Amino acid sequence: LDPTDDNFTPEELDVEKKLRPLSFDDFTGQDQVLENLQIFVQAANGRDEALDHTLFHGPPGLGKTTLAHILASELNVGIKVTSGPVLDKPGDLAGLLTNLDERDVLFIDEIHRLSPIVEEYLYSAMEDYKIDIMIESGPNARTVQINLNPFTLVGATTRSGLLTSPMRARFGIQSRLQYYNTELLTTIVQRSATILNVPISMEAAVEIAGRSRGTPRIANALLRRVRDFAQIKGNGSIDIKIAKFALEALSVDAHGLDEMDNKILSTIIDKFKGGPVGITTIATAVSESAETIEEVYEPFLIQQGFLMRTPRGREVTEQAYKHLGKIKGPTQGG
Ligand code: ATP
Repeated sequence: LDPTDDNFTPEELDVEKKLRPLSFDDFTGQDQVLENLQIFVQAANGRDEALDHTLFHGPPGLGKTTLAHILASELNVGIKVTSGPVLDKPGDLAGLLTNLDERDVLFIDEIHRLSPIVEEYLYSAMEDYKIDIMIESGPNARTVQINLNPFTLVGATTRSGLLTSPMRARFGIQSRLQYYNTELLTTIVQRSATILNVPISMEAAVEIAGRSRGTPRIANALLRRVRDFAQIKGNGSIDIKIAKFALEALSVDAHGLDEMDNKILSTIIDKFKGGPVGITTIATAVSESAETIEEVYEPFLIQQGFLMRTPRGREVTEQAYKHLGKIKGPTQGG
């Protein structure tokens, strides 16, 4: 089981949709982000204008897509969804843009993966709601400028560092999503269990929440798997015993760390005596890009107290040794 896996079966996608909060009130956590968004939405609604272009960044599964849908619904407008790698050429984007109604939301996931020409094409659309399109072909080919309806571009990225600065500058609203603490995730697990119609004890909800890597998507995925165990090995309801049994059987890490998290920690310990070691050296050793480590893995490891950023590089903490069952060797000078 890889709860971070995005390749859902159609049935799982259905459940995924059912669990998605639909309004600001329904959304748990990210209080500061939500408070601000509510004000911006109210103001835009009051002026009957399109909301400013909005960028969400942060690690996967924290609710960027969910928030884009909520924005559209709170703005009372339609939403069109696409993603950076899908938009191959400006023509693909033109088709989407010209079909937007006034104030609609265009959601572009993985916006850091837009090709440079598509990105440049987007600039004038974002700025003046105008695009150039090519009509006719051969000797008669010419471009005409057409006006678009005012719209809101909502961009999501896990890798804000890869966004070009002209792109970033065009977003009037920028919000960074944070990992969720166990308390918030417990609320999310309970809410999802209610939607899935499966009884769950408080203790079991806390157990699942604590192993979810601070991520609602993982919490929901674990809940669904634990529900299967409860149905087949128990009486259908989830208590702490069945939750622990299931999480054990699924070999879910006690802190919810995933394979790469553990690989990063054990590499720093085994190959670099626990650090300090530079990020690019770690990246090479674990065969992952330095940006991904910095933006996707490291924030959680630091937040959970497994890793420290020092002026000389990354260093693991005592807690990381304990977690991996490793013994700390003699350090320099000690
Ligand atoms: P990615 O960048 O990988 O696409 P994402 O940040 O867009 O991830 P979402 O797809 O919005 O994440 O969220 C993943 C799932 O987690 C959603 O289906 C939703 O059910 C759940 N979820 C996210 N945030 C919350 C929340 N605050 N409250 C309840 N459920 C949430």
